[in-house]
Amino acid sequence: MSKIHRLSTRLANQIAAGEVVERPASVVKEVLENSLDAGATRVDIEVEAGGVKLIRIRDNGLGIEADDLPLAMARHATSKISSLEDLEAVASLGFRGEALASIGSVSRLTLTSNAAEQGSEGSSAACEGREMEVVTRPAPHPRGTTVEVRDLFFNTPARRKFLRTEKTEFNHLEEVVKRLALSRFDVAFSLRHNGRGIHQLKAGTGQVEQQRRVASVCGPAFMEQAIYIENEGGGLPSGSLKLWGWVGLPTFSRSQADLQYFFVNGRVIRDKLVAHAIKQAYRDVLYHGRHPAFVLYLEVDPAQVDVNVHPTKHEVRFRDGRSVHNFIFSSLHRALADVRPNDQLPPNTVRTGDGMAINTETGEISTQGGLAWGAEQGAAVADAPPRQGQLGQGFGPRFSANPGLGSQGKDQMAAYGQLHPSLPEQGREEDVPPLGYALAQLKGIYILAENAAGLVLVDMHAAHERITYERLKASRDAEGIRSQPLLVPQSVAVSQREVNVAGENAELFRAIGMSVDVAGEEALVIREIPVALRDSDVEQLLRDVLADLIEFGSSERIAAHMDEILSTMACHGSVRANRRLTVPEMNALLRDMEETERSGQCNHGRPTWTQLGLDELDRLFLRGR
Ligand code: ADP
Ligand code: MG
Repeated sequence: MSKIHRLSTRLANQIAAGEVVERPASVVKEVLENSLDAGATRVDIEVEAGGVKLIRIRDNGLGIEADDLPLAMARHATSKISSLEDLEAVASLGFRGEALASIGSVSRLTLTSNAAEQGSEGSSAACEGREMEVVTRPAPHPRGTTVEVRDLFFNTPARRKFLRTEKTEFNHLEEVVKRLALSRFDVAFSLRHNGRGIHQLKAGTGQVEQQRRVASVCGPAFMEQAIYIENEGGGLPSGSLKLWGWVGLPTFSRSQADLQYFFVNGRVIRDKLVAHAIKQAYRDVLYHGRHPAFVLYLEVDPAQVDVNVHPTKHEVRFRDGRSVHNFIFSSLHRALADVRPNDQLPPNTVRTGDGMAINTETGEISTQGGLAWGAEQGAAVADAPPRQGQLGQGFGPRFSANPGLGSQGKDQMAAYGQLHPSLPEQGREEDVPPLGYALAQLKGIYILAENAAGLVLVDMHAAHERITYERLKASRDAEGIRSQPLLVPQSVAVSQREVNVAGENAELFRAIGMSVDVAGEEALVIREIPVALRDSDVEQLLRDVLADLIEFGSSERIAAHMDEILSTMACHGSVRANRRLTVPEMNALLRDMEETERSGQCNHGRPTWTQLGLDELDRLFLRGR
C-alpha cells in the first residue's frame, strides 16, 4: 500500500493559510487589497470582537461574475497575472491567488458580488467540506463585492489559541486599515467595530485633503509638528526616484517606532535598508533611543523593485539598493537641517503642503515660500499656538549674522535700545526677527524673549551647544579631515568578504581620513586614521563600517563617531547654566540660532526653544479677546 497520499483541498489550503492568515488583521489586509485591486473607490469595513467573530468588507469595485465565484475561492486562481512577464512588472497588490482559498479554509467565508454595470442582481457563494466545493446562489447586491468572514480559526483550534485579546487584535486590524488608507487617498474608507464608528475617511487627492487624512490617521499632533518634503532625483543608476510625504520634527519623536509609514509605489513596506537610511538622516538631531515619525512615499520604476520576495509582500528588494539608500538619506538629511526658526506665521495660521498658509479662523489663504507645514482639522488647529514646528522660512529683513557671543560692543547695544524700545510696536512687527528680542534671563537657564507672536523661551545651554557643534562641524568640513599615520600599523583579522569590501571601498576610506590596506586573504591593516579619532577604538569602528558596507552599501559610522567627539567638545565649550548673559549677548545668541542649521534641537535632540503665543497667555489668565 502506498504511503504517500494526496492532501484534501481544505487541508492543503489550511497549510497555505499558515503563511498568510495569522490573525484577523491579515484577513483584512488580503480582502482590502482585493477591493483596491478591483478598482473600488469606497470600502466599508465592519468587524466584531476584534475581527474574530466577524469581518465584513464591502466595496464598489468591478465585482466578480457568478461563474467566476468558485474560481475566486480556489487556490492558485487569480485574474491578476497570467505569465512570468506579468509577474516581473506586477502592479496589483495581490497576485498569488491564494488569499481567499486560505481564508475560506480556516473560517466561514461568504462572497457576494455583482459585476453588472446596472441592476442589483448578484450571486453569493460559500465553500463547504473537505474539498471546499463552492455552492452558489442568487443574491441581490449592488455592483461590487462583499466579503464576509465569520468565526476565524473555528476549525483550527491550535491557531485560535495564538489570538490575543479582542483589543489587541483590533489594534492590529486598525493598523492595517490605516496603512492602506494612507496608501490610497483617492479611496474612501470607513471602519466600524462592534457597531461603533472608528474611522470615516473621505476620498480626496488634493494637498489639503491628503493632510486631513494623515492628521486623522496619525493624529493632529503629528501634522502640527511635521514638515512636508518632496524631492525628485533623476539620472540615478536606478532610474528616476521621487520621495514625498511628511516627516516629524526631531522634537516630535516617539518612544516606539509606531508612527512610521513607508510606501514604495503605493505598497506599504518594512525594509531594513529604508529604515537604516531614515535613521541615519535623523542621527544628528534625534534624542538617544527615540524614534522618528514619518509618512513617506517613494516612487520608483516598478522594474527596479522586486515585490515577490515575501508572501505578505512586506519586504521588497531594490535592484540598486545603494542609490535608493543614498537618495532617501540625502533628501531627509537636507530637510531636517533646514528646520530652523526662520519666520513667523501669524497666530491661528497653519501652513499647508503647497507653501500656502490658511488662517484657521477666517479661512483666508495666502501664499508664502519656503518649507511647508501641516494643516489639520478644524478646532484643534484654531486652538494650537504656533509651535516650533510651524515656523518656516525667511520673511522680512534681519540683523546680520553675529560673529558670536559676547562680541557686541556698547554702541550696538545702544542701537538695539533705539530700534526696539519695546515690542510689538505698531507697524513694525515685520521687522521683528523670528525669535524676537531678549527680555531677561531666568534662573541662569532660560532666556525670555519677545517676538511678534508673544513669548519665546530658550534653553540657553542647549541652544549654544547646537550652535557651537554646527560651527565645529563646518570648520572641520572646510579644512578637510586631517589624518595622522599610526606609529605601528594595526592589523585586523577579518573575513574574505570583508577584505573584498574594504578593497572596493578604498576611495571611501580615504575620504574619511583612513588608510586601510589589504594585508592578506583575511587580513587588513590600518595605516592612517583621522586625528580626531586618535583616542577611539579604530579597529571596532573599522569592523562596524565593513558590516554597514556589506549590508547597506554605505556607512556613516566614522562620520557619526567624529561628530560625537565634536558634540562632546561643543557641550563642554558651551555656556553653562548659571552664567549671566547680558541682553546683547542673549540677542546675539537668538540671531545665531536663526542662522544655524538644526538649531531647533540641541546635540542630544532636546528642543532648544518654544513659543508661548499671546493667545495662549490670554487663555492662562482667562482674558477673552
Ligand atoms: P489574488 O488577489 O492573489 O488574485 P485572491 O485569492 O485574493 O487572489 O483573489 C482571487 C481572485 O478573486 C482575484 O484575482 C480576483 O479576480 C477575485 N476577487 C477577489 N476579491 C475581489 C473583489 N473584492 N472584487 C473583485 N474581484 C475580486
Ligand atoms: Mg488577493
